[in-house]
Amino acid sequence: MNFFRSVFQLKCPNCRIGSLFINQNPYKLRDLNKMHERCSKCDLKFSLEPGFYQGAAYVSYGFQVLNSLIVFNLLFWFTSIHWKNIIYFILGFIIVLTPYIVVVSRSVWIHMFVSYKSKKF
Ligand SMILES: [Zn+2]
Repeated sequence: MNFFRSVFQLKCPNCRIGSLFINQNPYKLRDLNKMHERCSKCDLKFSLEPGFYQGAAYVSYGFQVLNSLIVFNLLFWFTSIHWKNIIYFILGFIIVLTPYIVVVSRSVWIHMFVSYKSKKF
């Protein structure tokens, strides 16, 4: 599995086999931030230090701004929708996308600090 598949499929950065999250569906909001303590395949501890995932908020912010800019420009330049309506559309888009962005941001964050070990587990 390559790096980007591992990030977006929410897999362990060390072995790219074990799941990061207890529930793989981020839209089950009750389990949104619940992660396994350790990888089921390679035993990597997912919380590297207390408050480790606070930095994922910066990744999340970056994703949301990037998504908003892309959607705004696509709708503004290629449709005749008024820019105020585009803003409302983007607000809805952000609300719908937030659970997925939250878990992907955590995945990106841990992938930034733990490198892949190709050893078979
Ligand atoms: Zn693992």
